[in-house]
Amino acid sequence: MTDRAPFASWLNDTNDVISVFLSAGQIPGLINLGGGLPSPDVWPVEEIAEISGRVVREYPTETMTYSPVPGLPYLRDVLAKRYSTDNVPLTRDNVLVTTGGTQALSLIGQVLLNPGQKIAAQSPTYLGALDAWRPRTPEYQPMILEAADFDPVQDMTGAQFAYTVPNFSNPSGRLVGLEQRKELLAAAQKTGAWLIEDDPYGKLYYDSDPLPTLLELSGDGTPYSGPVIYVGTVSKELAPGLRIGWIIAAPEMIEALATAKQGSDMFSSGVCQMTAAKAYEEGVADNALPRVLALYRARRDALCAALEKHLSDHLTWEKPCGGMFVWAKVKDPAIQTEQLMRRCLDYGVCISPSSVFDPEGKDQSGIRINFTLNTPEKLSEGAKRLADTIRSFD
Ligand code: PMP
Repeated sequence: MTDRAPFASWLNDTNDVISVFLSAGQIPGLINLGGGLPSPDVWPVEEIAEISGRVVREYPTETMTYSPVPGLPYLRDVLAKRYSTDNVPLTRDNVLVTTGGTQALSLIGQVLLNPGQKIAAQSPTYLGALDAWRPRTPEYQPMILEAADFDPVQDMTGAQFAYTVPNFSNPSGRLVGLEQRKELLAAAQKTGAWLIEDDPYGKLYYDSDPLPTLLELSGDGTPYSGPVIYVGTVSKELAPGLRIGWIIAAPEMIEALATAKQGSDMFSSGVCQMTAAKAYEEGVADNALPRVLALYRARRDALCAALEKHLSDHLTWEKPCGGMFVWAKVKDPAIQTEQLMRRCLDYGVCISPSSVFDPEGKDQSGIRINFTLNTPEKLSEGAKRLADTIRSFD
């Protein structure tokens, strides 16, 4: 029998930890603090049902046939208007519609990375970004923004791009302050690296008004040509099931990314694009936001109170001021968090281990805990189960 050609070598680098915690949500009775899911209570089900039916009837051509690769002009215009400021005047040429933020990250890798090239990535790093770029086998320079000797110029030198989630990073929940945003931009200008601003949580500020984005800070009032490649998504503002995301960048960058998209999926669903466009235009996301913030703020507070009650002997963490996650360090260095994650499943709770947010898969010191999916009661029970699991290592 002829041997089949082997799989690409990067597949051998992935481990099974990721699939364990991603599929744990299916286990009956388990409290899932491991995923990054929005609460079903905030999905605008009736509005999306009504709008999607309406757009198919009113715009059969846009929704039913093949769409232009960069996106429907209608949605590109809505997004250009939504993100335009005096400093950053945008047109549809600055916008590429993608199939979720995930495809945006993947296209960026295809266009900007040759195999083995360097990425300066905010550390710890979003797992989906690591997955998107794994086929390019990049070299990672971790950017540790909270380190006293953090030097973005040094980190970005020689990198094709720098990757950051300035608003409530996944996994760390960290908010990058205004001064550091400016430093990142200055370093990108100095080194010539592109600056990827991945911003799914940009609206989820619980304690203060939003800071300006890197995109906003980098404009000078002329047509946008800056170093920022901004990635947005409907996933946390409307619903992840629509699978609509976008990239905002200089027109030449959008053209290059559109070429990559053509070979990837040709275009994103016209029904979903038109639904997202109308939902934004008709204020569905903006009107829902106060309720979303109230719900998530209460859940954040509930989780932090439960951690305080059950886990202060075992974990250290900072209360995040937005987003969806608490990032905690395990005090006992003997506990490896991958092992902890597996044992947690026996105790009926799931968390995600820090190793999956490390390009080298080595960091065993921390865990990511999600607070948006579960009710305060479940969060409290989940924290108790986590404490029981940690105590079982004694
Ligand atoms: N970036 C980050 C940091 C995320 O947390 C997510 C969602 N988990 C995404 C991008 C992409 O989300 P989506 O593909 O659902 O738009």
